[in-house]
Amino acid sequence: MEPRILELRGEIDRINRELLKLLSERARIAAAIGEIQTELGLDHYDPVREEEMLAYLTAENPGPFSDAVIKKLFKEIFKASLVLQEREDKRKFLYSRETKPEDTTVRVKNAVFGGGPLVIAGPCAIESEEQMFNTADFLAGRGVTVLRGGAYKPRTSPYAFQGLGVEGLKLGRAAADRHGMAFVTEVMDTRDVETVAEYADILQIGARNMHNFALLKEAGRSHMPVLLKRGLSATVEEWFYAAEYILSQGNGQVILAERGIRTYEKWTRNTLDLSGAVLAKQLTHLPVVVDVTHATGRIELMAPLARAALAAGVDAVHVEVHPNPKVAMSDNNQQMDFAQFDDFLSKINDLLEPAASVG
Ligand code: PEP
Ligand code: MN
Repeated sequence: MEPRILELRGEIDRINRELLKLLSERARIAAAIGEIQTELGLDHYDPVREEEMLAYLTAENPGPFSDAVIKKLFKEIFKASLVLQEREDKRKFLYSRETKPEDTTVRVKNAVFGGGPLVIAGPCAIESEEQMFNTADFLAGRGVTVLRGGAYKPRTSPYAFQGLGVEGLKLGRAAADRHGMAFVTEVMDTRDVETVAEYADILQIGARNMHNFALLKEAGRSHMPVLLKRGLSATVEEWFYAAEYILSQGNGQVILAERGIRTYEKWTRNTLDLSGAVLAKQLTHLPVVVDVTHATGRIELMAPLARAALAAGVDAVHVEVHPNPKVAMSDNNQQMDFAQFDDFLSKINDLLEPAASVG
């Protein structure tokens, strides 16, 4: 190698090491600023400060790099510091495994979320005593320990069946009590939290309300177990932040539910984001449920996807079951009848604990 090049490369290596030291020192100072900002509830990103730094850097730029190149290089450095500050912040989140490394279990009656695979099942909406009791009797006979059913229904059209309200809550409670099952039902309004909590064992916050921060806080204050569904277009991060709203009220009993997200795909009702469910298992300590009914809207896909979810380590699968789906008052096409549920269960049986499996 040409000795002049070797010598100059030696200079470059020395400067690289100097730069590395300076960058690391800069990052440590930026992190310290980030901590103070977090303490004061201030944003980490300060555009005025960024402008100020870029202004003096370009003014003092001795060349040979153009101002545009200097700006680009420093913006990368600023961005890297910001990512560092935000990552530090996440470590402090209550949902994070960095805050609580061990799995959270949520106990409700005979069901333990996080204590081995569970099945949550029941009709989309509570419609009558006969429908609810028949369904509970059937499901209990199959080892299902968590009964679902909506008394307050979030419907796309305001003219569609909205649920039976308190009457429905009473029926759901009575049906679950016939077999010591846990009862999970949706609450849509802060004003109903107290009433729903009187009848239910688990409050469900539906996909459409995942961003209803007042409701999340109220559910947090109730200290009831909460099944938090991921929003239709929510990122994984937004879903975790929603959980944080509940946890930050001192309520640690949060169960996360992935129920499919909205994509361009039309052949399924939604697109099951299994990556999101697994990320929830890895990054949070909370139990995770996969709702294969709302994720797919297609009965033939439910068993394969439930298998995938259970194999990936989720804590429960959620399905809708109705004695006669053809006449159901909501979600007719996606609810299984009893024979279909038996078929579904037989296909996932080997992945369930003996207690929740058939025969
Ligand atoms: C439901 O489970 O009844 C429901 C409406 O689900 P989602 O909020 O996931 O649409
Ligand atoms: Mn439904």
